[in-house]
Amino acid sequence: MKLILLGPPGAGKGTQAKRLQERHGVAQISTGDMLRSEVAAGSDVGKRASAVMASGALVSDDIIIDMLANRVRQPDCANGFILDGFPRTVAQAEALDHMLAELKLELDAVIELKVDDAALVERIAGRFTCAKCGTSYHDTFKPTAKAGVCDVCGSTDFIRRPDDNRETVRERLDVYNRQTKPILPHYEATGRLHTLDGMASMDEVAAAIESVLATLPTDHVHLDVTEVR
Ligand code: ADP
Ligand code: ADP
Ligand code: ZN
Repeated sequence: MKLILLGPPGAGKGTQAKRLQERHGVAQISTGDMLRSEVAAGSDVGKRASAVMASGALVSDDIIIDMLANRVRQPDCANGFILDGFPRTVAQAEALDHMLAELKLELDAVIELKVDDAALVERIAGRFTCAKCGTSYHDTFKPTAKAGVCDVCGSTDFIRRPDDNRETVRERLDVYNRQTKPILPHYEATGRLHTLDGMASMDEVAAAIESVLATLPTDHVHLDVTEVR
């Protein structure tokens, strides 16, 4: 299974990619997560990306394309992958086409999650993650069961992204409209674009994605690796 999850910041791409990874045993590739690791590691890429990310603008195409070209060649991508937050520009979409052609791979579906701007701001302003295991939460829509304690690992350390504030979000939404939306016609033309209502609950969106996957030829949807073994 090779999928792209498209949508503005806060649309639910990461949330759904994580579920798909767990359900179908495919790799979740988040360019945002990869960049945040580079920043945390203090690498050259991290140093070049950090101020750009803080402003809400996009990191340069050459850095991102290089990063992704290496990532899709990793062994855990053999069973398929979900691209979360890539491509974000026409140049990235074109580079992805070349990369996939070279690897003799074909995309199965591009799933666009549509969410109103006001809801996006709300989602981003309330987003936080566990510092230890990375589980994602929301102050209102997905709080921890016990206040201040991660449901999954019990840690009491949480992180809020520096770019998840109401001001930077406006810039990020603008960037999405100006630089990312123009890639939609490209995927529409391939007949692989599926636009879903991202305003629905997390469970409803997950079910809608599964319905799209059910329409794909079966050889495109691999079984969970544990079932294959
Ligand atoms: P969100 O999940 O809110 O959409 P991401 O975690 O995907 O945000 O991205 C955070 C930031 O990392 C972006 O605002 C941008 O600066 C940078 N970034 C992530 N992916 C890309 C990409 N494909 N191209 C350029 N910049 C990117
Ligand atoms: P993205 O990766 O597209 O930026 P996330 O998956 O990180 O978006 O979701 C942003 C925030 O909104 C998170 O705090 C998440 O828990 C919450 N969220 C995700 N999907 C939904 C949904 N369908 N309804 C309400 N809140 C959601
Ligand atoms: Zn945790």
